[in-house]
Amino acid sequence: MNNLSINSGRKIAGAIVVPMVIIVVISVFGIFGVMYWSAHLSDRNAEQSQHTLIAGAMQLSQNYLVKQQTGVVIWEEAYHVVNQPTPNESWIYNNMTHWLYQNHGFTKSILFDRECDVMNLYARDHTRTWATEDLMDDLQPAVAKVRARYISSMKKTPSGLYRFAPEYSDTRRSIAETGVVSIGGRPHLFTAAAVVPQILSISKNRRPPVTLVSLVPLEGEKLNDIAEMSRLNGFVLTDSPTTRAGAGRYLLHSPRGRNIGAIGWNTKLPGSQMLNRITPFLALAAFMITMVVIAVIIFTRQMTKRLARSEAKAVHTARHDALSGLPNRTSFHALLTDSLQKGTGTSRNTAVVYIDLDHFKDINDTLGHSAGDMVIVAVAQRLKRVIPDTGIVARISGDEFAMVIRDCESDEWLEYILDQVQDEIGRPIMIGRRELFASLSMGVAVAPRDGDDPDELLRKADIALYDAKANGRSRRSFFEAHMEHHVQSRDRMSRELRLALQNDELDLAYQPQCDTGGRRIVSVEVLARWTKDDGTVVSPSQFIPVAEETGLINELGIWVLNKACAKAHDWPGMIVAVNVSPNQFKHPRFVEKVMAILAANNLPPQRLEIEVTESVFAGRNDSVLKALRRLKNLGVKVALDDFGSGYSSLSYLRRFPFDTLKIDRDFLSGMNGNAEAEAILVSIIQLGKALGMTIVAEGIETVEQLRFLQMHECHRMQGYYISRPLSDAGLAEFLTEFNGDSTGGFGTDFSYQPRKAGMIF
Ligand code: C2E
Ligand code: MG
Ligand code: MG
Repeated sequence: MNNLSINSGRKIAGAIVVPMVIIVVISVFGIFGVMYWSAHLSDRNAEQSQHTLIAGAMQLSQNYLVKQQTGVVIWEEAYHVVNQPTPNESWIYNNMTHWLYQNHGFTKSILFDRECDVMNLYARDHTRTWATEDLMDDLQPAVAKVRARYISSMKKTPSGLYRFAPEYSDTRRSIAETGVVSIGGRPHLFTAAAVVPQILSISKNRRPPVTLVSLVPLEGEKLNDIAEMSRLNGFVLTDSPTTRAGAGRYLLHSPRGRNIGAIGWNTKLPGSQMLNRITPFLALAAFMITMVVIAVIIFTRQMTKRLARSEAKAVHTARHDALSGLPNRTSFHALLTDSLQKGTGTSRNTAVVYIDLDHFKDINDTLGHSAGDMVIVAVAQRLKRVIPDTGIVARISGDEFAMVIRDCESDEWLEYILDQVQDEIGRPIMIGRRELFASLSMGVAVAPRDGDDPDELLRKADIALYDAKANGRSRRSFFEAHMEHHVQSRDRMSRELRLALQNDELDLAYQPQCDTGGRRIVSVEVLARWTKDDGTVVSPSQFIPVAEETGLINELGIWVLNKACAKAHDWPGMIVAVNVSPNQFKHPRFVEKVMAILAANNLPPQRLEIEVTESVFAGRNDSVLKALRRLKNLGVKVALDDFGSGYSSLSYLRRFPFDTLKIDRDFLSGMNGNAEAEAILVSIIQLGKALGMTIVAEGIETVEQLRFLQMHECHRMQGYYISRPLSDAGLAEFLTEFNGDSTGGFGTDFSYQPRKAGMIF
């Protein structure tokens, strides 16, 4: 998988998963947070209301104490007794302090006189040590308040006397203050009340009252009463003022504000209770959400991985050739551009090599496409093996490869590498049990020498490849400026030729062939001619190869055949010889087209002779031979043109039963009394005859050559000596003259002088 795709896969996963996880985590924490926060709020509210409840209960309980004390402090008799200079202590004991203990549980009492000094102390256990100064100080504010309120409730009458305000005595509501004090570390509720007469009392001046403070320990029943009133559980007195979860605290303060302990209770926490109930569900929901998130993350990761993998695969497929696994043309271009950029500024060269497998199509045609594929794969592997590590190998098209070789130290070094490439590819390739030998042609362009633009280098490497192929394949060419000119002129010619075909600028020339006796013209070779608008004549040796390269040959060939067959009616009985290039046979319906042309022109196949050169055998192309055989079976004559100009002509004679053998004109030009050349010529004639073929000699330029061939009974003769290629009209005239000659053409006295002027093409 390529890194780019993995990264983009990670990016996608990151883009989806990270925000999702963040959202989920925030949501879960948010929900929990809100739950805990609202639970806490509701707990605090509950605690506060419980606190208020206790405060209320405490107040109620203290009010109750006040009421219990009222009977003793609002009393005529008590008022008189306590206001005596020497109060009767036993009366006070029996009717007030002890009475309060017996009837209402006030375990302690203190009676302050009008000067606020302790007048009488009472304790159920008869102790006095509890009446500490600290206690007195704690009680002082309450006692002082009672005294102040008493004074302020004395209203002056018009007579100048002071009258005790009736609202207290009438309603039997005492002037009292309540609170909590600590005695020996034990909190006590107290009520301090002024001892007042029940009936209206009048005095001369305003004096503070005698004040009775009654105390009851805040424990046992008292505490239970408060608990019951507040309807709270787990009531307990505690020294610790600090609260803990589930335990409320009601702090007890003395009137001076001193902390003297606290009432603890089990707080009812509805929020926490609700939370406790809901937490398992929330935890389960959080767990499930987590699971879902994990599942989604895993799924997303897998999906993104799969996506990244398929993206990488798609990128790889888009950039690579499926068969060889090598980078393809597009990717090669990008890699080359990259290489050139990296190479800029270095003194080293970068070579671009175009490679073409020689005759690969033949392998495909003869051994099948799977064998062709195996060859491609083998070649690809070998190229990869042999190229330097920094190099690039790509498959450009069918049998075309390309390489980039970087950091070329020198041309010699590059040549060495290319030698290795050629050697490696030259080793046999095993296809099943068959050994195949591949060869390749290479075109090389080197940057910066030949340019530094990738397209320019590729174009130049291609031109060099063309040169290598044109010069006989299995070789390599380095780009040179003149090659470009050649390519340019070829391109120009191909364009012009196409136009010429369209504009009917092509014509045919006809070169007659006479029989052995030289008295009769038995056949005519049809030769393509191209005269441009400006009158320039282009030789077929120039434009036919261009037509072959560009594929125009098919169109051109059909045009020639058509015209030749149409003309054939002007020369009854004569054979019309038409040159056909090997490429034309590659057209799958070539034979059918020939037959259609013959039929259209109503020409018997026997009158058509097709001239092919030995290049039809190149690459063991069976399909060409098959087509030839079909034509021959249909009656068309097949001639082997330019025999002897190639290398292994003799073997071709065994591979196909040609009707006619055209001896290359080089044999004739080489004659001129040369005994060896004559001997070869004679043996070719004999060999052809032995194989039952018609022998045609071309390129006869002298009478000697003619006589020699006549002597050896060559069947047909062609050459400038007999006639140059002629125009249509020129041939008609030539035939009239030739056939009308009383001596009968060339005969044997050679009196006929061939016409060369006027209508010669
Ligand atoms: P070719 O088929 O071997 O044609 C014979 C060539 O020899 C012709 O050249 C002809 O003009 C030339 N020739 C004939 N007699 C003599 C002679 O006595 N001395 C010399 N020096 N040359 C002689 P041309 O017309 O220039 O044609 C060249 C080649 O072009 C042909 O060679 C043939 O291979 C190809 N060609 C011409 N027309 C066609 C065509 O219509 N189709 C195809 N496929 N090839 C064609
Ligand atoms: Mg020919
Ligand atoms: Mg020829």
